[in-house]
Formats: sequence, structure tokens, C-alpha cells
Amino acid sequence: MAYVRIEPISRENLLISAEERWRLIAAARPDLAPALALQRALLTLVIELAGVVDAGRLPRLSLPPKYLAAKLARGVPMLAGEPVPVPTRVLLPTLLKLCDALAAGGAGAAATHIRDAVDNGSVEPGSLFTALLNRNQTAVRTGASHRGLAPDLVWLVAELAVGPFVHALQRSLLGQATSDELRAALDAWRAGHCPACGSWPAVAEVVGGHRTLRCSFCSSAWELPAYACIYCGERGEKFVTAAPNEERPDRRVEVCSSCGGYLKTIDLPQLSPFPLLSISDIETTDLDVAAMEHGYGRPALKDHSPRR
Ligand SMILES: [Zn+2]
Ligand SMILES: [Zn+2]
Repeated sequence: MAYVRIEPISRENLLISAEERWRLIAAARPDLAPALALQRALLTLVIELAGVVDAGRLPRLSLPPKYLAAKLARGVPMLAGEPVPVPTRVLLPTLLKLCDALAAGGAGAAATHIRDAVDNGSVEPGSLFTALLNRNQTAVRTGASHRGLAPDLVWLVAELAVGPFVHALQRSLLGQATSDELRAALDAWRAGHCPACGSWPAVAEVVGGHRTLRCSFCSSAWELPAYACIYCGERGEKFVTAAPNEERPDRRVEVCSSCGGYLKTIDLPQLSPFPLLSISDIETTDLDVAAMEHGYGRPALKDHSPRR
């Protein structure tokens, strides 16, 4: 089974689970306290928005199962190249609040400038959300630079604001795959990028020995049959899994000297429900540092757009 379904949990339980994880991380890593406080502020906004998105209606996409199965068979994510109408009016208030939370949480004027640019019409939020959903890093970054805004911060804030929407789309596309053909195509998915949106995983969460890749954008979960580099497929000596901290074998990093990529893996009692995956990500920032110090990196997003 390639695609792993994660049952949604109530907002209340989501917050309880998040607080418990933050408490444990803060106890082990007091230096992360400011980062955790900011993450709490951001995730609270994202969880609120998810409630609004889930209560609304998703756009009806004309994506027949046969068509999606054929896309997946070619290694192309379901949403790639599809014109998806983004509910800008629903997402916009959260985008602005996220800017405020970032400004208060350490990003300062760089975050305020983004809010101002949206407020005064210099940044058109619908275009930003659409470029973000299309995973068009060039458009988002170039647009930000031209307006004197911090490209990474614009990407982050837009990604957080679009997250609940793309997560809901992913769940409706993957989780409710009722056609045998589509389910078979999902089961046959062998790529390291997300079958729904095409992003790379943020981490692999390992539950009961199952190494499950977790999409950094839509939070989908999928398992690959081969233990190999998720970026290039290397499974020989050049693909190594190591625990930088010997006392914490539950937190590892997979590195590949064929392609130079790395992936963090973390043992957990259960897969993180949306949007708590970012807690696994923040919990393992020392693994990013260890991998990068050794010259490994994460590749750029794959371009799945149809040739123009
Ligand atoms: Zn995804
Ligand atoms: Zn590789």
C-alpha cells in the first residue's frame, strides 16, 4: 500500500497533542523556546483556517479517475498543471494574521512589509496563492524580489495560508479514491515526491517500522517499497542512514552521496495529523544542521508543469 490514510482528529485533540509534543521538545531543547512559541502562534492560525476550509465547499475539479491514474503512472502528481480555483477570500485574512504573528515572533519588519504589500495592492493575493499552489518557486520568488520583499518569507507565509486548502484537496483526491484504477495507480506510486502536489517530503515518520514519507505542503503520507534514496533511487553504498546523536537512534538522517540529498527520519508513536507535521520538522532541525554541515542538501522542487 503506497498511500497511507490518516484519520482526521478534532481541533481540540489536535491542540492537546500539539501542546504535549511542544512540552517534550521544550524540555529537551530549551534553546528552541522562541521557535516553538512562534510555531504555536502560526499553527493555531492554520488550525483555525482548516476549520473554516473544512466547513466550506471545495471546488469541483473535473479530474476523472482514469485521467488521474494515467498521470500517476507517468510519475506526475495529480494536481500538477491543473487549473485549481483558490478560495482567496477565505485564505486572505489568515495570510494577514500570519504576517502579524511572524512580525511579532522575530521576523519583524520583513513580515510587516509583506502585509503592507498585500494591503496596498502591490501583491495580488490570488496570484500569489495560485503560483504557490502550482509550486512555482520562480514566480513567487521573483515577484517578491521585484517588490523588495523577502522571498523565503513570502513563500513561507503563503504556503502556510494555502496549506489547509491543499490538504483538503489532497484528502478528497487521494483519500476518497474510490475507483479501483486510481487506487491501483496510487499503490504503484514509486516516486519520492508527493503523488498529490509534487512537493518533497519534510520528513519520513517511522511508525511501527513503516517509513512513511510526509509531504511538506499537503501533508499526504505514502510508503515506498524500496529502502533507497527518495531523490535518485540510490540503494547501494552511497546511500547511508545515520543517527548524528548516538543517544537518539530514533532520530536519523538518510544521506546520499550519489545525488547529495538528505532526508530526516523520526520514530513516532503515530503519524502526525495535519498540520502537526511541522512539529516533526522543527523537532529535527539539528538533523538539518548535521546534514548540511556535511555538504548534503534538499533538491529544488521538481517542475511538473506541462511543456509550454
Ligand atoms: Zn503534497
Ligand atoms: Zn540520491
